[in-house]
Amino acid sequence: MKEWMKNVRNVTPYVAGEQPADKNIIKLNTNENPYPPAPAVRELLNGFDTDILRKYPDPDIKDLCAELAAYHGLSSDRVFCGVGSDDVISVAFLTFFAGKKKVLFPDVTYAFYPVWAQLYGIPYEEIPLKEDFRIDAADYRRENGGIIIPNPNAPTSILEGIEFVEDILKHNPSSMVMIDEAYIDFGGKSVLPLLEKYDNLLVIRTFSKSRSMAGMRIGYCMGCKEAIAAMNSIKASINSYTLSQIAISAGVLSVKDDAYFKEQCGRIVKTRDEALKTLAGLGFTGPESAANFVFVKHESLPGDYIFEELKKRRIFVRHWNKPRIADYLRITIGSDEEMKRLYEALNDIIQSERK
Ligand code: PMP
Repeated sequence: MKEWMKNVRNVTPYVAGEQPADKNIIKLNTNENPYPPAPAVRELLNGFDTDILRKYPDPDIKDLCAELAAYHGLSSDRVFCGVGSDDVISVAFLTFFAGKKKVLFPDVTYAFYPVWAQLYGIPYEEIPLKEDFRIDAADYRRENGGIIIPNPNAPTSILEGIEFVEDILKHNPSSMVMIDEAYIDFGGKSVLPLLEKYDNLLVIRTFSKSRSMAGMRIGYCMGCKEAIAAMNSIKASINSYTLSQIAISAGVLSVKDDAYFKEQCGRIVKTRDEALKTLAGLGFTGPESAANFVFVKHESLPGDYIFEELKKRRIFVRHWNKPRIADYLRITIGSDEEMKRLYEALNDIIQSERK
């Protein structure tokens, strides 16, 4: 071992879904949106004045914070923007989980949470989901140093109600409770109204899924103004200029076109609801989804087998070789054409197995 290696920080990184170079692959593995971003975003990028690139972007991301604040009926000092919600959550972990008590999150959830906790030396405990993959609020009535839960949860796709989050808030007044609403725009009811009652709530959102802008890297969160100020202090201690000026401008234009946004979300919800029915016809079961993906297992074929067979047919979905979920596949909702190709491939896999 080389001497300098002794000082290297050891981490087990998060493994992101594959981003294949081959454009012909049907990519249903990272919950991207099959439809383009708002037309005004496309126009902006087509005619972007590159002179803007000489200067640093606005470190306070004022325009986008103001646009999002107006959209959600909040003041600007209650919105924090980051480079995707991954950046927002990472800054939130650093900001609010600095105590010695364990931070709580479900055992089956966004796999990045334990990675940040390990990186930042935050003690944590994974709370098992119930047999049916639901989260029991009663499990979060124990001493903790903070809580983070996605709603809908990923990869289960299950949405819990506002009462569920309020129960957790009521029983944890001295913890920061983060609700990761990455997938809330696909039919779920947001817990945003609870912000008026609870100053220990942080609601996290992303432009990556419902706004078709995963490649632009924009995420944000909303909380009380003291919480947002605390996050801004941490951010300004790591990197002042997080969002590029292009991302800030594109983000503003996306938020302005609410009609387009709602229409695209509606299309995905429709395809998703049809998908669960079609997949049931092929022998798959899974929970009712409130996200832009479904989480399903087949009545006889193992998860890893279907995953590999789909891959051979150039269709990528997501699979985890983990206890409890090894037979499940997380399938992102693609365009209607992509879904048709998926069903054909699944049918082919099932039929060849029966021969
Ligand atoms: N939270 C959840 C629950 C997610 O599934 C994802 C997507 N991987 C993220 C946050 C991060 O998304 P992004 O950084 O693209 O905003």
